[in-house]
Amino acid sequence: MQFGIKTLDDARVEGKTVLCRVDINQPVDREKGTLKSINRIEACVPTIKELSDKGARVVLLAHQGSDIEYKNYYTTKPHAAVLSRLLDREVQWIDDVCGPAARAAIQNLKNGRILLLDNVRFVAEEQTLFEMKLRLTHEQQAKTLLVEKLAPLADLYVCDAFAASHRDQPSLCGFEQVLPSYMGRLFEKEFCTVAQVMEEPVRPCVFVLGGAKISDAFLMMKTVLDRGTADQILTGGLVGNIFLTALGKETGRGSVDFIMKSNYGEYIEKARELYAQYSEKIILPADLAWVQDGVRQEAALGCIPADIAAVDVGGETAKLYREIILNAKTVFVNGPMGVFEQAPSEAGTKAVWQALADTEAHTVLGGGDSITATEKYGLTDQMGYICTGGGALIRFLTGEELPVVRALRHGAGLCGN
Ligand code: ADP
Ligand code: MG
Repeated sequence: MQFGIKTLDDARVEGKTVLCRVDINQPVDREKGTLKSINRIEACVPTIKELSDKGARVVLLAHQGSDIEYKNYYTTKPHAAVLSRLLDREVQWIDDVCGPAARAAIQNLKNGRILLLDNVRFVAEEQTLFEMKLRLTHEQQAKTLLVEKLAPLADLYVCDAFAASHRDQPSLCGFEQVLPSYMGRLFEKEFCTVAQVMEEPVRPCVFVLGGAKISDAFLMMKTVLDRGTADQILTGGLVGNIFLTALGKETGRGSVDFIMKSNYGEYIEKARELYAQYSEKIILPADLAWVQDGVRQEAALGCIPADIAAVDVGGETAKLYREIILNAKTVFVNGPMGVFEQAPSEAGTKAVWQALADTEAHTVLGGGDSITATEKYGLTDQMGYICTGGGALIRFLTGEELPVVRALRHGAGLCGN
């Protein structure tokens, strides 16, 4: 038991049918029918292997893509093939989620065998609409089609999907109402790692915040500053641009337009308030970069031309951030320093990421694009801990209890001794 949640150490699974929710959501190449990356599938192998080795009948539930990011909305069939290769054992797959075919396949499973069901988001109640607009309680989620059809066939529920633990959906929060529930090994590892950063970081503890997920970034900044978790926050990307704009520093008209077009105007005021309270802890870029006719340009604050859009931090900023990162003991990272996808605007991210690789500090890095940058610069093995979740990680650091954590704590009460 950890944090009020049962772990696999507490579970007896031999001969039991285990519903195991994983997060193996990956970018998809729809034309070829293949996955462009498999890091999340790799990360949940230990839990699946352990369950199968211990003789459980393992039924995997997973989503692929979302109604917001529809280009990745896809079947889980390619995932079964990748899993099978990684586990070096057969992984059955069925093109059904909780209909008669899926239920028959579950009932026919033998001990140690693994079955992956199709994309749970093909079932309507698993959609964001139900999460955002209808707001089903966990008790109501237990009455959805998915849970009512599958729970009676299972003995216990395991959630290994830390990356989706900020989602309030039936496959994640409904089963815990009716089945003894446990967290998987990946969930346990990620939860412990981020809880450690939050509760007792080795100091100095530095946060590196860039990228474009503004609403969560601001919630989290306030929490980690109010609680004293962060000794310093290094800002870049859109986060940095919003602070600079809030303080009346010129970042170029294009940057302000982008902030307004993205509906982030309200954060300018929030940034002003936060900075007024924590000006010595929030470090802002000293220079910025933009791209003109395909060529990178840089200037110090105060010398930024009016008509540009800042798409990266400049060289002086990267140098300063490197120093701070090298002297830190804990570094938490979410969001790149600039539009690193394009060569003229990647230097800031590249330099800061190199510092993350070089520092002795314990680095915890999360977020899809942050991980992509790490892979792009070949630094994956030099980071301390790469978390599979971005949104979940940030939401955790806002201090809110994650919906899946709350559900798992409830499900722990159904486990007996
Ligand atoms: P993560 O996926 O690591 O959590 P985000 O999704 O929040 O990170 O942000 C990553 C995106 O932010 C990247 O696509 C990057 O191009 C974009 N970005 C970074 N800096 C800027 C900037 N100054 N202006 C616009 N977009 C930016
Ligand atoms: Mg992202």
